[in-house]
Amino acid sequence: LELSLQHASKLEAVGRLTGGIAHDFNNMLSIVIGNLDLARGALEGNEKALRRIESAIEGAHRCAELTGRLLAFSRRSPLQPRALDFASFIPGLVKLLVRTLGERITIAAELDGELPDICVDHAQFEAALINLAVNARDAMPEGGTLGIRVRGRDAPAPDGAEGARWVDITVTDTGTGMSPAVLARVFEPFFTTKEAGKGTGLGLSMVYGFVQQSGGTITVDSSPGQGTRFVVTLPALARKSVPSEAAGQRAPFDAA
Ligand code: ADP
Repeated sequence: LELSLQHASKLEAVGRLTGGIAHDFNNMLSIVIGNLDLARGALEGNEKALRRIESAIEGAHRCAELTGRLLAFSRRSPLQPRALDFASFIPGLVKLLVRTLGERITIAAELDGELPDICVDHAQFEAALINLAVNARDAMPEGGTLGIRVRGRDAPAPDGAEGARWVDITVTDTGTGMSPAVLARVFEPFFTTKEAGKGTGLGLSMVYGFVQQSGGTITVDSSPGQGTRFVVTLPALARKSVPSEAAGQRAPFDAA
């Protein structure tokens, strides 16, 4: 518990710091991009100078992308939890992952028949799963299988209350796995083993923060050569919502 409290307050401090810096940096960056755009307009006909300006603009946009990620990390955007139905969510996610991960990665998704809904911010939940999936792909340079399994489970709530329901989302890969030294630090902000420019070390600490704020837990086990398994556990909503087909039907007088 002490460790996770330490981790949480470190996460919060780093979040506040990066949020402040990212915010100021973003403002200055928009001045840079604005002026580069103007300069491009004035350089019509000068091919060599135009190419240089284009590559400066591209670099500035990459910086903007990074500050965007830092801002999201620092939680300037509050969560907007809504009911999420896995049966309609997962197929869309798998389609997106097929496009993102490339053809060397086989995706095996498996859902329990009667899954309860969960209540999460849909965009952040999707971002968290994409983070796990992209890490899995990076750990499988020769290709392999990404597994996504969703199961319902009954277990007491953290306060001991009986009758609580949970949903386990298990993400596995057949990649390189991690040494105990790496495994111990994966959720730490800015911890990365990837080369400069490839990793920020913020992916898993964002996932960790999101899961915690959503009332859930995340665990990981991994060993070198054995692949990796992350389990995200989130509280189930008490009642199953209306199936999406029925929800999509409109009464004739609904003008929307
Ligand atoms: P980044 O991906 O930018 O490095 P993360 O916080 O997402 O940042 O991950 C931190 C580190 O954890 C990675 O650099 C990698 O060493 C390790 N890691 C994360 N997921 C996996 C995985 N599925 N297999 C092997 N190593 C992993």
